[in-house]
Amino acid sequence: MKINRIKICDFRNIESLDCRFDDVNIICGSNAQGKTNLLEALYLFTGARSFRGAKDGEMVAFGKKRAVLEAEFEGGCREQSARLTIEKKREASLNGIEKRSPAELGESIKAVVFSPAHLIMIKGAPEQRRRFADAALCQIKSGYQNVLKQYKNALRQRNAVLKDAAFSGCEELLEPFDEIFAKHGAVMIYQRQKYIEALLPFAKEIYHGISGGREELELHLSCGFEAGGLSLEEIREKLFERLKENRREELAAAVTKTGPHRDDIDIMINGRFARLYGSQGQQRSAVLALKLAEASLLYEKTGIKPAAMLDDVVSELDDMRREYIINHLKDRQVFITCCDAESVLCLKKGKIIRMCAGKIDES
Ligand code: ATP
Ligand code: MG
Repeated sequence: MKINRIKICDFRNIESLDCRFDDVNIICGSNAQGKTNLLEALYLFTGARSFRGAKDGEMVAFGKKRAVLEAEFEGGCREQSARLTIEKKREASLNGIEKRSPAELGESIKAVVFSPAHLIMIKGAPEQRRRFADAALCQIKSGYQNVLKQYKNALRQRNAVLKDAAFSGCEELLEPFDEIFAKHGAVMIYQRQKYIEALLPFAKEIYHGISGGREELELHLSCGFEAGGLSLEEIREKLFERLKENRREELAAAVTKTGPHRDDIDIMINGRFARLYGSQGQQRSAVLALKLAEASLLYEKTGIKPAAMLDDVVSELDDMRREYIINHLKDRQVFITCCDAESVLCLKKGKIIRMCAGKIDES
């Protein structure tokens, strides 16, 4: 998949813009000129909502009624076109045919985005890392959304029964709920473990490249036992055992503390937790490697090459790491925003797009 062109009308500070793209695209300019806005517009063609968490109406230019975005892209070995209109909500069409929901565009156009806000994946609480894995799994496994739902129900029920059991002292009430909980929880642990195993070789290779071969990235699912190499049934048994072991503590707290809703993904650089010991540049590189690995895996599973959209990533990286990202992310279309055109002088092949007050500066 390659986005060849975008036309924008009344989107944020971009009144009118028509831009063609290359394989590597550097969008540069001073602060507040519209670089992230352009990236946000491109990302909307994946059918997802704004990666900034904006409501649809907030993206329409101030004082205008609607924004219109049109893209030309290569997908499925042919030229295609997509159109989005944004008023209070988004409407989409593909090759002139109206889609029921903009999300349907995601079947043809895929992208992964990295903005500094994603550093929370490393620095933040375990929930952030679980969310990364679950969101990625939802994209490649159609049944995973349902797995999440069933687990959530099982957790809710078990928590309710835990409260009753804590009050009444009837521990045996928990037995059937432990079984249901372990059954659904095991599916989540199994899928997450498989996802991490599949992601790891890509992430390792990319991180190795970014760090000039000097550092090693490792990922590990932390779920209270070693899930690698276990079958679904073995995981279910282990989780069931853990529920038994922790029962006293959970009854005292009247809440389920065991299970995938409390698990974490350890992200290690050279054997140490990136969260605790990684430098800014190392943490950035690790998130980048994970995001780009996610794109590689998405390609492997869907046959569609996602574009990589990197907002404000290169500025805090040293020359070597920056050069690698700009020139060595082969096999995928890349969009990179940055303030300082000097920092991308190392670009060997690609296009530099200069943004100024919502327009492309052709001078
Ligand atoms: P930075 O380097 O600081 O990240 P940027 O070039 O990425 O800057 P953008 O985030 O793209 O900047 O924003 C550019 C401008 O768009 C901002 O000044 C903002 O006020 C303006 N803007 C945001 N939403 C709208 C809107 N709905 N209508 C008009 N302008 C908007
Ligand atoms: Mg920006």
